Amino acid sequence: MICVSLCAGNGPDVRAGMEEARKAGADLVEVRADFLHDRNEIRGILEGKPLPVLVTLRSAREGGRFEGTDDELFSFLENAASAGADLVDVEWRRSRSFSRGNSRVVLSFHDPAGTPEDLSDICARMQPLPGDLVKVAVRARGTSDLLRLLALPKPAILVAMGEFGEPLRILYGRYGGAMTFASLREGEETAPGQLSISRLVEEYRVREIDAETRIYGVMGNPVSHSRSPELFNRVFRHLGVNARYVRIPLDDPSLFRKGVNALDLSGVSVTLPHKSALVAALDEFDPAVAEMGAVNTVVVRDGRLRGFNTDAPGAVEAIREAASRRSPRGISVEKALVLGAGGVARAVAWGLLKEGTRVVIANRTLDRAEKLAAELGCDFLPWERRGDDAPKIVVNATRMGMEGTESPFPAERWREEMIVLDAVYTPRWTPFLREAKAAGAETVDGVALFLRQANLQCLRFLGRPIPPELLQGFESA
Ligand code: NAP
Repeated sequence: MICVSLCAGNGPDVRAGMEEARKAGADLVEVRADFLHDRNEIRGILEGKPLPVLVTLRSAREGGRFEGTDDELFSFLENAASAGADLVDVEWRRSRSFSRGNSRVVLSFHDPAGTPEDLSDICARMQPLPGDLVKVAVRARGTSDLLRLLALPKPAILVAMGEFGEPLRILYGRYGGAMTFASLREGEETAPGQLSISRLVEEYRVREIDAETRIYGVMGNPVSHSRSPELFNRVFRHLGVNARYVRIPLDDPSLFRKGVNALDLSGVSVTLPHKSALVAALDEFDPAVAEMGAVNTVVVRDGRLRGFNTDAPGAVEAIREAASRRSPRGISVEKALVLGAGGVARAVAWGLLKEGTRVVIANRTLDRAEKLAAELGCDFLPWERRGDDAPKIVVNATRMGMEGTESPFPAERWREEMIVLDAVYTPRWTPFLREAKAAGAETVDGVALFLRQANLQCLRFLGRPIPPELLQGFESA
């Protein structure tokens, strides 16, 4: 069930919101009465309601605005129940018997600041009456908090606030959750991390998720910039595959396997900063993964994790193609500067070395450049001297540019004959690429790399590539 949470300050706006929520596909609405300027309006709001209504008067202690006494709270809930509320929220810590009429109770526990250590004890002490629902809504400060929430007894309404909770907001039904809360529109969230009803219904098609739905996701930290969910969900829809793709923030690589199991994942795109660390978590891998020491694609089969790397072939293909637009010589005779020493730098440098290209690595932290160069058998440069050499190929594999302000390459060193690849793809036009283009260099943006590696990843996930029309539509967006 999808419940749209409404936090308007007056009756007419709440009623308009109810109607809009109905049209958007909500199953019920939550009226956050702690936002109402005049709580007496609740009777008028419930009269002629177009959808079932959950009435909530959230206390300040649990993240709401109500600062009154228990007597005021229960007198309000009795009033709402007698006026036809289908459900009323009763905070477990304040719970007592009251005249609930025909209303069902959502017995709730909220912690807007974190996930208490004794969460399972709290749940064990929550004693709903038959027909009532239990709701546990906590702030997930990390991946382990999400995993603890997923391990709670079901059925229940489970909400993990904040970005770490996003998989549960979308896949709640898949994990035994009874309901998810959505905002009516973007920007009208009543809790951190809440998604809008249109994203749940249209982008993630949550209504069609069932026990057979295969789940894929991008795991890393951060993952909010990732466009993989947008791309793969379009691919699944287009190909009629019963699968969904979500963002799964992973702040601790040691929780990778536990997360894969708890979320019942069929495949993972690994992203920064875990591409190297997660090689050790795999059961099997492509020989290339062992050689380069970075994984970006994990396929789960019969509980075993198999790793691949699609960044390396994707980047080499893109650079080769860009170079061929300038000269038929190929890239084996050229010299490449790879900026960065993380997972992508490792994959791109390895791929170029395999082509016979001379590779030099420069990284902000010199030790990492030195170590990576030693592992791969190539040269390295101190970061301050990264513009000194005269490479033909320049690759940005740092995070610089994600904020849209900084370039990792000195502007005065660009030359027209250069071939330039930026791994950063949000934003698409980084200062690095803009400056290279202005100097007349041949550029490949991060979206082109993203699509190439995603296409190879799709082959691993589904055994077939991304339909060309989807790639073209995405590239020109
Ligand atoms: P990573 O393992 O976390 O490595 C990040 C690299 O960026 C490190 O070398 C780090 O240097 C450097 N860095 C970070 N902030 C910096 C700064 N302010 N100045 C200079 N260097 C800085 O990340 P990754 O997985 O390799 O990803 C790198 C980039 O590629 C990310 O932007 C990611 O979004 C992008 N990416 C794109 C695609 C695609 O398909 N287009 C695919 C994957 C990743 P230190 O060692 O000094 O910390």
